[in-house]
Order: sequence, then C-alpha cells, then structure tokens
Amino acid sequence: MDTVIVLFNRDLRVHDHPALAAACANARHVVPLFVVDPGMPSGRRAGFLIESLADLRESLRMRGGELVVRWGDPVAETIRLGRELPAQAVYVSADVSALARSRERRLAEECERHRMGFRRFPGVTIVPPDALRPFGGGDHYRVFTPYWRVWSGHGRREILEPPLTVPVPMGLAAGPLLTARHEPHGLFRGGETAARERMERWLKHRAGDYADGRDDLAGNRTSRLSPYLRFGCLSPLELESLSGDGDFVRQLCWRDFFHQVTLAFPRINRDDYRARGQRWRDDEDAARAWKEGRTGVPIVDAAMRQLLAEGWMHNRARMVAASFLVRRLRVDWRVGAEHFSDLLLDGDVPDNYGNWQWVAGTGNDTRPNRIINPVRQARRFDPDGEYIRRYLPELGTVPGRLIHEPWRLPTGIRDYPPPLVSMG
Ligand code: FAD
Repeated sequence: MDTVIVLFNRDLRVHDHPALAAACANARHVVPLFVVDPGMPSGRRAGFLIESLADLRESLRMRGGELVVRWGDPVAETIRLGRELPAQAVYVSADVSALARSRERRLAEECERHRMGFRRFPGVTIVPPDALRPFGGGDHYRVFTPYWRVWSGHGRREILEPPLTVPVPMGLAAGPLLTARHEPHGLFRGGETAARERMERWLKHRAGDYADGRDDLAGNRTSRLSPYLRFGCLSPLELESLSGDGDFVRQLCWRDFFHQVTLAFPRINRDDYRARGQRWRDDEDAARAWKEGRTGVPIVDAAMRQLLAEGWMHNRARMVAASFLVRRLRVDWRVGAEHFSDLLLDGDVPDNYGNWQWVAGTGNDTRPNRIINPVRQARRFDPDGEYIRRYLPELGTVPGRLIHEPWRLPTGIRDYPPPLVSMG
C-alpha cells in the first residue's frame, strides 16, 4: 500500500501500538493523525491530553515522522485528509464506549464510501474486550471472579517494539496543538515519556509492596498510572508483562473487565446495568455539599477535596465517597459519576461508570447491598488521620482519633460543618 492514516485517539504512544506497527509494516507512507474534537472536555484532562500529544509528536519526529493535528469532527477530518493524500486505508485502535463505537462505525462507512480500507486493532486493553465468552452462554462476563480466572489463562498477543522509522509523505502541514483551554494539572505530566518514567519507578521501588500498601490512604503506595492508561500513554499489556505481581495484575484485569461490560452494555453511563428499583432523592444541596467536600464527614470530604485539588483520588477514597453519596445521601449514582468524570484525569466511561454502578448496587457487584461505613473505613485505612489532615487543614487542631468523628467534640469546629446525615 502506498499511504495509511493511523487515527490516534486513546492510544497516545509509540510502544506496543499494533495499529501503528501494522501501518509501518504495510505501507510506504504512514500518516499519524489526531483530530481535536471541539466537543472534547476542557480543563485538566484537556491539558493532560495536549501534553500527551506534544510528547507523541516529539517521539514520532525522532523517528522521522510527524503527528498531524486537525481540528473538527474526527470522521470528516480523517476522510478529508484521506482524500487529499490520497490514503488507501485508515487504521484505529478499537475502543468500547458508545461514543467511540459510533465514531468507528461512521468512519468505517465513510471509508467504504470513499473506497478506503478501514481496520481496527487491539491495544486499549490487555485481552480484547470481545475475546472471552462465558461457557454457560451470554455475550460477556457479568461477574468478575470467573472472568479473572479465564482472563488469566487466556493467551496474549506479542508485545511490539516502537517502529524505527515512521515514513510520513513530504509536504504535510503538521497543524497546531495549542488550545486556550489548556489548564495546568499539578501532579501528573501528560505523555508517554512521563508514563514510562513513572512505570519504571513504580516497578523498581514500589510494586513489591502493593498488596500490603494499596489501601493505605495517606501512603501513596499505588502506581498512579491510571491517567496514563486512560490516554493510552502506556500499553496495559506491556505493564502487565513487566509487573508480574498477582495483586496488581488483578487490578489491571478489573479495567479489562469493565471494558468488556461496556462493550456489551454501551448505555453503562446512563442506565442501570441491573435495575433494582432504587428511588433516588433529588437533593441539590446535599449533592453540592458532597462535591465541595463539605458533608461534615471528614473521610468523605478529604476524598472530595483531593479530587478538586489533584484531579485524582485514591481507590479506597473513591469507594467511600461514592458509597456515601448513593447509600447515605441517596443521591443518584449518575450525579456522582458525572462529577467524577468531569474532574478525574483518569475519568473514562468503562472504569468510572462501571465502578459507580458497582458501588450503587446496580452494577456487577455480587453483593449489591454492601454497606461501606465511612468512619470504620477511615479508622482502618487512615488510622492517624494523616490523609484527612492533608486535605482538610481546618481539622488540624482536632486531637488524635477524634479526627474521624469531629461531631463528638463538645464545642464543634469553626469552619467545618456538622454531618449532613446522622452518623450514629
Ligand atoms: P493501582 O492500584 O496502581 O492499579 C493499577 C491500575 O489498575 C489502575 O491504574 C487502573 O487502570 C486499574 N484499576 C485499579 N483498580 C481498578 C478498578 N476498581 N476498576 C478498574 N480499573 C482499576 N479508574 C479509572 O481508571 N478511571 C475512572 O474513571 C475510575 N473511576 C472510579 C470511580 C469509582 C467510584 C471507583 C470506586 C473507582 C474508580 N476507578 C477508576 C478505579 C480506581 O479507583 C482507579 O483506577 C485507581 O484508583 C487508579 O489509581 P492507580 O493507578 O494508583 O491504581
């Protein structure tokens, strides 16, 4: 083939990138393309995305290539470029959300109309989301443990080296990257280079401690690789193969699990996966207090302030904060999930909505009535209140373990509200 376009989306890397590798093997010219959709989220995640694109552009340039950037509708812009070049095919990494799949479908149709080939490649997950079918029938696994068992024994594709050269055609305009909506995002620098540095540090210094440390709220003992996996700056397959740790790999399997659920149930971000007839309260004040980290329950508020400050939240804190919203305040899981989705750097449809539905009891949890007690969780996973004190400086003077239940103080605390619901 003479020219293939590789349309990047949530796969912003050169290592272990099946679509890019295949294009470099099959075509004389390869055009790596990213189309910035005007509908894309603004704020922190946009900042992370722009940094990731700049890093990808740099990596491609080091290989004699380029990242071509266009602004507009991804399908229309890809086809326009395909006709200009002309290109014989478009390659993409297959994704699972309803939006991504409708884009892929439209692109496939338009490619056919314009006599261009269209191919989807793996790479977003470790095992492709349509690869495993339950023995008893059904189009996907609804329960994690059997999925984990089969997933663990399933074969893996070969991990691919980055291409040595990416031969772009002469005279292509690269297109601008900058956006006015680029916001700084604190703890995480976007891009594959930063992702690989963090992965190497994690594998060298921390990974061995994962099983013991992963629930330590104050300890920073998880990988914090989630934003990089979200944008595909890292290959989850490569991460799995390098880590070798069973507990850590199990968490990566949760990611694959929710991707295969989303492929089968694309309305996961709208409808109950398992409707249980819950009635939600319409309480805007309670939802606002929760979003602002002012519920009066320190562990919940610390979690929500971490999200506001960093665009990231510890997994245990996510569970506690989410459970408080849906179980104690009885606010609809969609309200919480949308807020997370707006603010999380790693916010994506399968993992965010899959986990929210799990917590709300409408999803894949086999114990849908599970109650997560915030005070007990705080005592267990933040015994000295270090995590709480970090994000709630107004509780700095509360002595010892009363930090978990400041409502027991006879005087109350200035600048900190009483709990929104009875915590007796
Ligand atoms: P580590 O503990 O180091 O785990 C490594 C990787 O495994 C993570 O980066 C992630 O890709 C995957 N992983 C870990 N736990 C889970 C899980 N429960 N479900 C799916 N994948 C997992 N994760 C997201 O990536 N995006 C989200 O939008 C998201 N929303 C969540 C919402 C709620 C209510 C809850 C309870 C969890 C959510 N998670 C989400 C899962 C989990 O909290 C994060 O993946 C994790 O905290 C990221 O930190 P880490 O990279 O240090 O994780």
